[in-house]
Amino acid sequence: MAYSFLSHLECSRTGERYEADQVAGTSAAGAPLLARYDLERVRETVTPRDIATRPPDLWRYHEVLPLREAGNIVSLGEGMTPLLPLPGQGKELGVPKLLMKDEGLVPTGSFKARGAAVGVSRAAELGVRGVAMPTNGNAGAAWALYAARAGMKSLIAMPADAPAITMKECVASGAELYRVDGLIGDAGKLVAAAVARREGYQEVSTLKEPYRLEGKKTMGYEIVEQLGWRVPDVILYPTGGGVGIIGIHKALLEMQELGWIGEKLPRLVAVQATGCAPIVEAVKTGARESVPFPDAHTVAFGITVPKALGDFLVLDAVYATEGTAIAVTDDELLAAQQQLAELEGAFICPEGAACFAALGQLRESGWVGEDEEVVVLNTGAGIKYPETVEVDAPLLAKDGVIPG
Ligand SMILES: *Cc1c(COP(=O)(O)O)cnc(C)c1O
Repeated sequence: MAYSFLSHLECSRTGERYEADQVAGTSAAGAPLLARYDLERVRETVTPRDIATRPPDLWRYHEVLPLREAGNIVSLGEGMTPLLPLPGQGKELGVPKLLMKDEGLVPTGSFKARGAAVGVSRAAELGVRGVAMPTNGNAGAAWALYAARAGMKSLIAMPADAPAITMKECVASGAELYRVDGLIGDAGKLVAAAVARREGYQEVSTLKEPYRLEGKKTMGYEIVEQLGWRVPDVILYPTGGGVGIIGIHKALLEMQELGWIGEKLPRLVAVQATGCAPIVEAVKTGARESVPFPDAHTVAFGITVPKALGDFLVLDAVYATEGTAIAVTDDELLAAQQQLAELEGAFICPEGAACFAALGQLRESGWVGEDEEVVVLNTGAGIKYPETVEVDAPLLAKDGVIPG
C-alpha cells in the first residue's frame, strides 16, 4: 500500500498542475505550490480509527503527507503536542471553553519543527544536498537542526537582531549562518543570489517550496483528532508568513473532503502585532492582498513579516471561514504572557501570547461568545525569549535576611 497519496502540485493562483516527484519551488506565476493528494483513495485506505493506533507524532497522517517512503523520515519526535484546557485563563477572559495547543513542546522549541521535519525529509528524498533560507530565527534554527539530522548542509541568513538563541542553534548544528543588517526580506534577496550560484542547494524560503506547509498543516489534523474528530468554534493563530494558518485551513478542507469532519469550519483568526499588521490592514478594507507594512517592528519576532508571499492565502482562510484579523500592542502581548504563566503555569512565546491578548479584545467586543470553544495556538516556548521578562528580584548579601 502507498505510504503517501501525493498526486501532484498545484499553483495556488492559477490551479495549473505540476509534477510532484522532482524538486519544486514556486509556480510559473511565482505563486506557492500546493501539494494535492488522491483523497478518494486515502478515504478508502485509512480511517480515523486506524490513525488512533499509530505512534504519537505527525507522521501518523502519512497518507496526506508528501513522503513516499517511511524509511526517508527525518525525525526528532515532532508532533502530537498537548491540547491543554486553560480553566483559570478561560475564566479570566470570559471564555470557559478555552484550550491551548502548546507547540512549545516540539523539538527546537517552536512549531517550525513541523515544517522542517516534513520539508527536510522530502528534500532529502528528492536528492537535495543543502537547504538555504532567510528567517526571523525559529525557522532557521529548526531547518539547521533537521538538516544536521539528515546529514544535509544548511545556509541560514537572519536579521542581526533576531533572537540570539536561534543563532546559537544554527551555530551548534554546524550551519553556515549569516547575520544581515536588515529585515527578513533583505536576507531573502541575499540567499536567493547565493543559491543561484550553488549546485545541490534548494531555496526553502517561506512558501517557496511546497512541503513546509504540509508539515504545518498537521496542527489542524491534530486539533481535530484531539477533540474527537470535531472542530472548535474559533482558532487563533499568530500570523507572520502565514504558513500555519494556511496549513490549518488546508487541513480542514482536506478533512472535509475525506468525510472526517462535517460542513462547519472553525472561524480562523489571524493575530498580529500593531507594529507589523499587514493582514489586519487588508481585512479592514476587505482586500484580497496586503500592502507592505512600513517600519515593521515588534518583540514578537516570529510575526515580523511586512509582506508575505502567501498573504492572499491567509486572507482566503480568514474570509472563507468568516474569521477575522486583529492586532495587539507589544505591551498587551507581554502582559498576556505574564498573566498566562501566573494563572496556568505555562510560559509561552510572545507570538502565542498575542493570541491571548487578542482573545480578550474579541470577547469584549462580543465577536467571541461565552459558550464558544476556542483554541489558541502557542507557537513556541517562552524559554526561547528570555529577554521578554525582566528580573528585578532583590539581591541579598550572604548574611542578608529574607522577610519572614
Ligand atoms: C514563525 C513563527 C510564527 C509565524 O508563523 P507563520 O506560520 O509563518 O505565520 C509565529 N510564532 C512563532 C514562535 C514563529 O516562530
